[in-house]
Amino acid sequence: METRSSVLINGQRIDGDSARFRVEQYDSELRAAKQRFGHALCLCRTPPLKLVIRQRGDLMHLACWPDDAHHHSPNCSFYTEAYSGAKAEGIVVGQDNRTQATYHQPWTVEESRNHQSAPKQDSIKLWALIHHLWESSRLYSWMPGWQRNWTIAHKVLMRAAKSVIINGEPFVDHFYIPPAFSFARKEEIRRSWDLFIAPIQEQHRGNGVRTTGFVLGEVRSIVPAGQGYLLKLKQHGPGFHIGPQMAKNLTHLARRGWIECTQGGGAGNGQGGTSVVALLRIEALQDGALVAADCVLMRTHCLVPANSNADDDLIDRLMNEKREFIRPLSYRQASLDLPAFVLRDTPIGATELHVLGLGMAPHAAFQRIQQLEAQAKINRSSIWIWNRNESPAMPALPPSNKALTCA
Ligand SMILES: [Zn+2]
Repeated sequence: METRSSVLINGQRIDGDSARFRVEQYDSELRAAKQRFGHALCLCRTPPLKLVIRQRGDLMHLACWPDDAHHHSPNCSFYTEAYSGAKAEGIVVGQDNRTQATYHQPWTVEESRNHQSAPKQDSIKLWALIHHLWESSRLYSWMPGWQRNWTIAHKVLMRAAKSVIINGEPFVDHFYIPPAFSFARKEEIRRSWDLFIAPIQEQHRGNGVRTTGFVLGEVRSIVPAGQGYLLKLKQHGPGFHIGPQMAKNLTHLARRGWIECTQGGGAGNGQGGTSVVALLRIEALQDGALVAADCVLMRTHCLVPANSNADDDLIDRLMNEKREFIRPLSYRQASLDLPAFVLRDTPIGATELHVLGLGMAPHAAFQRIQQLEAQAKINRSSIWIWNRNESPAMPALPPSNKALTCA
């Protein structure tokens, strides 16, 4: 999941990240390329994709060809997802590769001021934040040859977090992901947790000034404790208290994740590659106990967001058949009308993969299929539909570009 693309500017091969985010270093090459060729080339695909060379103010910039950003490889610095709810939630990656966002709760609150923490219109929600981290770390996508485990996820999520500024401060300064545990690194891991948690425990609730932070990890268990529940993460000792009201909200808003974690033997135990990822905003009590002030649960399969067993089966099939695909993310709790997955390796453009859930009446399924076909036409995509009411077994996937050339 490293971005490893290269760009050709006037015959000179330049690393993709530099070409996109530190382009001022290549001003003279860009001017020469504009005069000689009219464009630069991105080498992430074969044949290469053209890049526009534009002058903004005194400086030259590189940009994707109009409507071409999603044709770049997910490995490429110029890739932008077409199927994404990011823009609707006001999340835009700036020219400097940074995302600025407002969160309704300041990092530090003076309790005497009786701070109103009701979400503002333009503030980022926890659900949008976890989707943004998944999208900017490319964990929502898959290419043949990639690997995925918690060590990789930790690395790419922390890197993605470094590009996020919340309430004017680097998000990464207030963010903790338990790394994959190893005895050799035990002390180092303990120190980094102590460093993260110290200001939160010092400025606890009822202290007059209280501080908050964010924790993300795979859920190990959620068990009843006191009035509420205790959530424990894999690779991590201390648990987080979930109050009765938040538990009630989670049973509605993150129903699948909550069921998997609380009913045992399910995703919470990581069986068959399925797990539930929690993003928590935490605060501390006077005795040092940690409380979830806000929490979302995201069900995943091989760390790709997945809502159901049918999604899990599709992910397994796509990975086994060495396909290139993405999981579109709504940035909201509901998936809206997004496809379950989008294949990026089909011969003409993208192919949307939709799954119709069990229990749909035939006329409702017919209407839904018509609606999806109309929407795919607008998206200029091909479409593949698995209607589980008619076909319990998954139909064959659309052939990939490679399969066609081999045939
Ligand atoms: Zn590219």
